[in-house]
Amino acid sequence: MKGAMSSLLVVGSVAFDTIHNHLGSHTRILGGSATYASLAASQLASVRLVGIVGKDFPKKAVDMFRGRGIDTTGLEVANGDTFHWEGRYSDDLTSRTTIQTDLNVFADFEPKIPESFRDSEFVMLGNIAPELQLHVLDQVRSPRLVIADTMNLWIDTALGALKELLSRIDMLVINEEEARQLSGFHHPLAVAEALRALGPETVIVKRGEYGALLFLDEDIFCAPAYPLKTVADPTGAGDSFAGGFLGYLAQAGHDDLRQAVICGSAAASFCVQDVGIGALENLSREDIEQRIREFRQLTTF
Ligand code: AMP
Repeated sequence: MKGAMSSLLVVGSVAFDTIHNHLGSHTRILGGSATYASLAASQLASVRLVGIVGKDFPKKAVDMFRGRGIDTTGLEVANGDTFHWEGRYSDDLTSRTTIQTDLNVFADFEPKIPESFRDSEFVMLGNIAPELQLHVLDQVRSPRLVIADTMNLWIDTALGALKELLSRIDMLVINEEEARQLSGFHHPLAVAEALRALGPETVIVKRGEYGALLFLDEDIFCAPAYPLKTVADPTGAGDSFAGGFLGYLAQAGHDDLRQAVICGSAAASFCVQDVGIGALENLSREDIEQRIREFRQLTTF
């Protein structure tokens, strides 16, 4: 993986997370969809972060982003507190319950794309209200590739805006359960066909510990998740997948979507190995490359 890096705009939540899991309680650790996606992509692309935090957001976290080469010009600091999410995982980590969501400054978030970010070539619209994702698209000039994530909340409460968004993006990354809800179908081919009919040329269905499915035209690619002995914390795995996926494509000469899916799966596998961003904040390009080689070994027959 060599060559120039393209610019990747990442928009989403920057948060404090309180996570209760089999390892204990982790209070107010750095999280958020944009945080995970930015960190996962940071060694592969020139990441431009757009999000909002409160006055309580520590300088050392901003320094950590910058230390990873992430441009934080678009990280707005507003009066008030940073978004806080609290959740509890089941002992086997297969399900989680949200205990509390304190939107705080996130409630009034209106993403403002700095002038210096408007020429971004790749755009990752993290899981925020579809109206806000559309507002971001209105501000970028002519991106080569726009990818969006979404969740059941927006399928339930903002379906009109979500459908408009789908008509304007190139790729949708979505959890399997939400893909079924949005498409109204259950089986993978029917799900993908219905979602692609709404606009995005490519659909990626995330299946958690079972990997991911990529649908483009008649092509289907099935990637496993990297087999691990233990998982510390699945929070942010989906966002890390998207960051690794788009980060891969933002490298010059890297346009193979299958390879990008594997790169996303590699990033997600590192994410879940530690609590919060623990494994991502020190991840090197070589670590990702090594894991991609292991994926090749794992899936070749
Ligand atoms: P994931 O595990 O991929 O669903 O992403 C987890 C991240 O999503 C956590 O770090 C949370 O801070 C963030 N999050 C939780 N709820 C929301 C929400 N309503 N809007 C935006 N981000 C959220």
